[in-house]
Amino acid sequence: MMAFIYNLFILIIIFYLLFKEGCKMAKRRGIVKFEENRCKGCELCTTVCPVNIVIMNKNKINVKGYHPATVDEMEKCIACANCATICPDAVIQVETLEEEK
Ligand code: SF4
Ligand code: SF4
Repeated sequence: MMAFIYNLFILIIIFYLLFKEGCKMAKRRGIVKFEENRCKGCELCTTVCPVNIVIMNKNKINVKGYHPATVDEMEKCIACANCATICPDAVIQVETLEEEK
């Protein structure tokens, strides 16, 4: 019986820690910056964003003659950095903001 109570106690602690970590991740936010003039318009970054906020800016043309990538609705960014990782030209920088309390 004591072993059962002990195991239950350990399980509750594990679930609590996982839940706490999950809440932190959900609150992570990012700011994404683009070196627009280096963008070659390949659109790779638009395919890997889990919240679908990376788009091509059809209202702008950079010095290379391409519509550069940008972010719509920055407040939805979760700072995963997928966009920065996949960009072959190092156009993108992702800054992680402090967790919300
Ligand atoms: S950091 Fe992640 S969530 Fe934010 S824009 Fe890039 S791919 Fe999307
Ligand atoms: S992956 Fe890089 S070069 Fe390609 S569109 Fe996105 S920012 Fe531009």
